Amino acid sequence: MIPFYSLSYQDLRKMCDQADLAPATANHLFNWYYKKRKLDFCRAHNLSSKAKQYILSSFDFALPKIHFVQESTDKTVKFLMLLHDGATVETVLIPFQGKYTLCLSSQVGCAMNCSFCYTGAQGFKRHLYTEEIIGQFLRAQIWLTEQRPADDRILNIVFMGQGEPLHNFDAVKKASEIFISQNGLSLADHKITISTSGYLPGLLRWKEDMPNVNIALSLHAATNEKRAQLIPLNRRYPLETILPIVDAIPQGKKRFVTYEYLLTSGFNDSSEDAHALGKLLQHKKAYINLIPFNPYPGSQWKRPADLQILGFKQIVESYSIPTLVRTTKGAQILAACGQLNTSSRNMQTCSHLPAQIS
Ligand code: SAH
Ligand code: SF4
Repeated sequence: MIPFYSLSYQDLRKMCDQADLAPATANHLFNWYYKKRKLDFCRAHNLSSKAKQYILSSFDFALPKIHFVQESTDKTVKFLMLLHDGATVETVLIPFQGKYTLCLSSQVGCAMNCSFCYTGAQGFKRHLYTEEIIGQFLRAQIWLTEQRPADDRILNIVFMGQGEPLHNFDAVKKASEIFISQNGLSLADHKITISTSGYLPGLLRWKEDMPNVNIALSLHAATNEKRAQLIPLNRRYPLETILPIVDAIPQGKKRFVTYEYLLTSGFNDSSEDAHALGKLLQHKKAYINLIPFNPYPGSQWKRPADLQILGFKQIVESYSIPTLVRTTKGAQILAACGQLNTSSRNMQTCSHLPAQIS
């Protein structure tokens, strides 16, 4: 059995052709499962009985299950999704002007071991399959439509949950294709953002292989020496290697590369650090997201004071780079991505998600 939600529209068309089914079969199926977001067996009335037989014997429609939901008064929703093998990942809905940004996980755990990240501290368990990425979206969307029918629109998707998306390139790519497919979920490509710690093998494939979605680079420091202390991967793939590759990714009109900069007290939040960041990015089509560190038990870093964050922002802005401090959402339930915990018993996470992703 082939997981249905792992197939792009083109994949499905090809399979239908090979099985000698009417080309419209793929349309009926995508329409039923993606446009109508139904979970039961496809009841499109013009589906032939041969097609029904084929569907029944060929496809597995299993999706992750919602194991646990936490809602905060600011309308943030955190889901713990249970996967077929018992592993769990978190998916977060972040409210923004009456709509939602959905933060997706791409792996169970993460191999990159960043020193400030709760997910990294848990180590790498496995990649998510395409259908598990799509499943996070469908489960969250169906939940939203049932629970909050008046405002159930997911406008943006960010791959900023657990895992390094470019380490799981093929599944993230295929899921993005399904998200933006006119026959599938029909999201605009510029509404999807993939955040990376700078995983070179994935960056090298981006230009040729990735659909035209946004890239966000977790920069966090303007020098290799400091960056490597936050992101060990920087020792293998230093700034002078990854930045030119990010620069070479074509950006359409009004499109920017987002550079995420984690602010930690006394380490990378000084005025020198801010000037170094401004100088590094000043001639790029850049947009900076300053992310104050969110502490978790046992973490060695500290969040800077608000005044320090503001001063840092002002210096960076003096280089004419649009800069945003990510406001905290879901603080009440400690919902967030990036340092999410996979255990339902211990939901300790922290909030650093953007309120203003557009
Ligand atoms: N692996 C990818 C995407 C997931 S992490 C990446 O690293 O970019 C998403 C974002 O959350 C990253 O910018 C990451 O640096 C940030 N993050 C992780 N732990 C954090 C913490 N404790 N406080 C604030 N931001 C954190
Ligand atoms: Fe992985 Fe991103 Fe966390 Fe680093 S910050 S350990 S790359 S999830």
